[in-house]
Amino acid sequence: MADDLRTQDIVLRELQRKFDALNRMVQISLVMNSTLKLDLLLNYIMNAATEITDAERASILLMDRNTNQLQFKAATGPEIKELLDTVVPLEGSIAGTIVSENRAIIIDDAAHDPRHFNIVFKESEFQTRAILGVPMRIRDQLIGVLEVLNKQHGRFNDEDVRHITILASQAADAIDKAQLIEELRQANEELEQLNKLKNDFIAIASHELRTPLGLILGYASFLKEEAEGEMGEHIQAVLNSAQHLRGLIEDMTNLAWLDRAELNKQPISINTILGAAYADVIAMADGKEQVLLLEAPERLIEVNVDPHQIESALTNVLNNAVKFTPPRGVIVLSAIAQPKEVWIRVQDNGIGLPPNQLERIFDQFYQVEDPMTRRYGGLGLGLTIARKIVERHGGRIWAESAGPGLGSTFTIALPVIRSE
Ligand code: ADP
Repeated sequence: MADDLRTQDIVLRELQRKFDALNRMVQISLVMNSTLKLDLLLNYIMNAATEITDAERASILLMDRNTNQLQFKAATGPEIKELLDTVVPLEGSIAGTIVSENRAIIIDDAAHDPRHFNIVFKESEFQTRAILGVPMRIRDQLIGVLEVLNKQHGRFNDEDVRHITILASQAADAIDKAQLIEELRQANEELEQLNKLKNDFIAIASHELRTPLGLILGYASFLKEEAEGEMGEHIQAVLNSAQHLRGLIEDMTNLAWLDRAELNKQPISINTILGAAYADVIAMADGKEQVLLLEAPERLIEVNVDPHQIESALTNVLNNAVKFTPPRGVIVLSAIAQPKEVWIRVQDNGIGLPPNQLERIFDQFYQVEDPMTRRYGGLGLGLTIARKIVERHGGRIWAESAGPGLGSTFTIALPVIRSE
C-alpha cells in the first residue's frame, strides 16, 4: 500500500514536472515570436536553451546565406567576443556534422571527440565536456545550429533532445523573421542615404546652373535689343531655350526648397486663382489650337492660401493638360463647391492614364512614358511640386482617368474659409 502511494507520488511529480516544462516551452515560444530584434532574440533563445536542458552554456551558429559557411553568431558566457563571426568548418566540427547529418547529436566527452573544433577550444577558456546540438531548419532549409554545453546534473538525455529540437524549430522561424526585418531595415537605410545624396545633388546642381544661366539670359536680352533681322531671330531662339531651361531649373530648386519655403497666406477668391492660372497657359493652348474653357463659380468662394504657390501648382497641372492633349483638344478648368472644401478641376480629353499610374505620377521624376522613347519632355517634377504645395495648405490632389486615350481629370481640393 505504502509502495503504491509512493509510486503514485513519483508518477504525479513526474507529470507535474513535464507539465511545467511544457508550460515553459509555450511561454518561450510566445516571447520568441514577439521578439523582432535579432541580437535580443538570439540571447533569449540561448538562455531558454540552457534553462530547459540544465546546461552551463549555449551557442548559436548561423549559416551565411551568401558563403554557405557556419558562423558563431551568439554564445552565453564571456568568450563570445573572441568567438563572434568565427567560421566553423563544415568538416571536422560537431556543428558541421550536425549540419551534414541533419540530426541532433549528443557528445558526452567532447575533449576526446575528433569532431570537436579545436580553434573554438583554444580561443575559449571555458572547458567543454559535453555537447548537445540540433539543426535549426525552416522546412527543408537549414539556417544554423543550436548547441548547449555541459549539463549541470547528469548527462544530456532524450528528453533534452526533444525539448531543444522543439525550441530550435521555433527559434529558426523567429530568427528568419528577425533576419528579414534586419535586411529590410538596412535596405531602408541605404535607400534613405541614396535619397539624401539625390536631394543634395539636385540642390547643388540647380544652384550651380542658375548663375551661368542668368548671365546667358541677361546678355541675350541685351543683344536682342541691338540685333536686327535674322540675327534678332537667332537671339530670340537662344532666349527661348534659356527660358525653357530656367523653368526646369526652377522646378529643381522648388523641389529642394519647397518644404522650407515660407507660406505667405492670405484670403483670396478662387476666381482670382483660376484667372491667373488661365492667363499663364492660354497662349500655350492657343499655340496647339486647343479650346481652354474656364468655368468659374458664380458665387464667392474664398480660400486662405499663398496665392503665388497655389497658382504655380495649378499652372503645373494645366501645363500638363495642354502638353498631354493633342492639338485641337479640349481642356476645362473649373471649381466646384463642396462641404468645407473647393475642388479645382482640370479636365482634358488627351492621352489619359492607365489605372496603375494614377498615384505613381506624383512621385519625383516619374513619367509614364519610357524615358528612352518619350515625346513630351519635362523632368517629371511638376506634379510632385503641385502635391507638396497643396498638402502644405492642408489640401489634397489626385488624378482620375477612364484609361489610355480617354482623357484625365486632376482635382485640387482646398479648405474653404468663406463661401456665399
Ligand atoms: P512632367 O510633366 O515634367 O513629365 P509631371 O510630374 O508634371 O512631370 O507629370 C508626371 C507624369 O504624369 C507625366 O510625365 C505624364 O506621364 C503624366 N501626366 C501628367 N499629367 C497628365 C495628363 N493631363 N494626361 C496624361 N498624363 C499626364
